[in-house]
Amino acid sequence: MHRTGGRVVAGDYDDSRRWVSHTVQTTGRKDAVMPGFEGSDAEWRGMLSCARNEYAGLPVDFVEKPPANGEYLLVFVGGSPTNMGMSRMWGWASAGSKEVVPHGVGFVFSADHKAKDRTIALCETLAHEVGHMIGLDHSTDCNDVMSTNAACRNRDYKHGRIRGFQSPNLAILASSLATWGRSAQDPTTRLADDAADKTQKVRANVPQQQKTPPAR
Ligand SMILES: [Zn+2]
Repeated sequence: MHRTGGRVVAGDYDDSRRWVSHTVQTTGRKDAVMPGFEGSDAEWRGMLSCARNEYAGLPVDFVEKPPANGEYLLVFVGGSPTNMGMSRMWGWASAGSKEVVPHGVGFVFSADHKAKDRTIALCETLAHEVGHMIGLDHSTDCNDVMSTNAACRNRDYKHGRIRGFQSPNLAILASSLATWGRSAQDPTTRLADDAADKTQKVRANVPQQQKTPPAR
């Protein structure tokens, strides 16, 4: 989890160690300068502890410094899609197909999360984007955090209700994580979230109770 922003460079493959992002490449830009997290310490801590809970039971942790050993995924939290010339997205990340994106890089556009129950909204976006990086596609199950169906009227942030991963996705997460790092980098994992139709699909991530982020 990266909190203080910085310059992320476009590349054919993600590289969490060097801040290279294929997602940025799909925007046509050479780089993106992302601002740091603009929220409070309490929001940051709340988001992390909520995300840990979303991944409870799986070998995933959310840390604030790169681990000394082993592979890791990198999530920039801060700014808005306009920082990379895009609009109307809560988050964006490379998506693996039932496997972890090697050295994956993702983004949570926290500045556009302006709902009252911001910590929960940030947590859902973070869990969702990391879900993509661990191999999940969008879900049709309204109760799954990978759902993007705007017709699912089951959000209830006010009462602390948060969507989690449902059984089919939990199984995929477990199996992706179990084989993480065992295979060589595969070009099929370089697909950005929703390659052909990304804006439309990612836009559908918009939680029901939040205003659509401004185009600029
Ligand atoms: Zn998505």
